[in-house]
Amino acid sequence: MTVHGSGFPQGRIEVICGPMFSGKSEELIRRLRRAIIARQRVQVIKPTVDTRYSESEVVSHSDVRLTATCAPTARDMYAKVHSRTEVVGIDEAQFFDEDLVAVCDGLANRGIRVIVAGLDMDYRGRPFAPMPRLLGIAEIVTKIQAVCMVCGAPASFSQRLSATGDRVELGSSERYEARCRRHFEPEEERQLELLRSRAEALRVPSQVHDAS
Ligand SMILES: [Zn+2]
Repeated sequence: MTVHGSGFPQGRIEVICGPMFSGKSEELIRRLRRAIIARQRVQVIKPTVDTRYSESEVVSHSDVRLTATCAPTARDMYAKVHSRTEVVGIDEAQFFDEDLVAVCDGLANRGIRVIVAGLDMDYRGRPFAPMPRLLGIAEIVTKIQAVCMVCGAPASFSQRLSATGDRVELGSSERYEARCRRHFEPEEERQLELLRSRAEALRVPSQVHDAS
């Protein structure tokens, strides 16, 4: 039940997604700072896997930072949310497991405003679990774009520039850059997949061929 005028925010899920260098963490930090100014009890959580800059802070590429709690799994994150917390910010959400969807749902049902930032696609251009399902259940979705490093157009893809390791490899400006659809070059495996699906789409159905 929503109590209007109590100052307690209505529970909901907000997702901020987009490619690398699109300013997702910045937007997350901006919303969280506003909540802090409004004297709401805010908690920031991120997966333990992100040790890029700091164990205990959410840091944007332009070096704005907020103190964060690290959690190895989504269930563990749920346990770390205090009973009086009103706003939960989650950064690098793509590195949490699929339980994140149920956890965010549970938190929102408790009346908590959950703001989730993460990559919607991996470097192959594929939806990055658990983000797709989270986008489906969120009240508010903000998909932001970066700038294509080839042509300067708005960019929605994260281009990997080196071919080492798996998709858990974290970004820095040396390894990834933002690209538009035209300049995004998915890796070989994905290119073969695209060729196969195109061939399938172009294939003439056998009945039509027989009838001619
Ligand atoms: Zn481009």
